[in-house]
Amino acid sequence: MIHIGQDQIDSGKIKKLPDEVISKIAAGEVVINPASVVKELIENAIDAQASNIDIQIKNGGKSYIKVADNGIGMSNDDLLASIQRYTTSKISEIEDIYRISSYGFRGEALASIVDVSRTVITTCDGSQAYRLEVVGGNIVKTSQSHREKGTTVEIYDLFFNLPARRKFLSSEKVETRMVTEMVERFLLVRPDLSFTYKVEDDIVYNVRSETLNDRFSVIFPDVKEFQQLSYDGEKVKISGIISSPQHTRRNRTGQLFFVNGRFIVDNLLHLALERGYGESLMHGL
Ligand code: ADP
Ligand code: MG
Repeated sequence: MIHIGQDQIDSGKIKKLPDEVISKIAAGEVVINPASVVKELIENAIDAQASNIDIQIKNGGKSYIKVADNGIGMSNDDLLASIQRYTTSKISEIEDIYRISSYGFRGEALASIVDVSRTVITTCDGSQAYRLEVVGGNIVKTSQSHREKGTTVEIYDLFFNLPARRKFLSSEKVETRMVTEMVERFLLVRPDLSFTYKVEDDIVYNVRSETLNDRFSVIFPDVKEFQQLSYDGEKVKISGIISSPQHTRRNRTGQLFFVNGRFIVDNLLHLALERGYGESLMHGL
């Protein structure tokens, strides 16, 4: 094996980036916008076996994002570990990723989020509760706290320390719509969980555990005619809801596909669905 020393690296045009820059670049790959933060936090809450998840955003999530759950919570040691890069409780060896059933396993989300925001995490695993305050990746305060079992993550001023990136965020309206769509996907894929979702102080969704049919009606209140479908094959199980053709939209925003609980976008699935409707769909779709 050939070892390449630091002086060789420093002597040429190619330089090793400072750790600070490396971590901000890595954070930028995970944290794209408020909706991506909301996605990671809801996934963490579900992975922590929460049955109730409360979400709130302000200013499109640009000023404030909160996701609170009643999951298993964390001890103080785990809380401190959780914000480090590549720390996870979900896998410990490479083989684990082939049988993983959790959403997360890369241990990057919290580390990335705390790097590019001011974050407050409050958590309790059933014994003592703890609070952790992080600014741009630096821990500024830890203290004991009070709360029921579960975890609350609050994010203030996303990208406050990356102004060029912050400028690339869209308007409040557009960011809010993207967060709302993200939240709706989780509502649909987990009708067994309770959620509240607030934009500013207005309740957009407040749903208790219910059937998929009922949850569907909450998200698509105008669609009165729909039917549940299910297929139980040897290799795949398919379940879902389709509306009657008179409820179609001019675009594909009403076509949502999930594989193993994860929202996916796949052209072939869109086409298959549209073919299934055949001539009954509006032309030009
Ligand atoms: P990953 O989800 O890939 O493991 P994260 O950075 O999202 O990585 O989280 C790191 C760890 O922090 C998780 O593995 C989990 O142990 C803990 N954690 C994060 N969010 C929560 C939560 N809401 N409740 C309990 N534990 C959590
Ligand atoms: Mg995660």
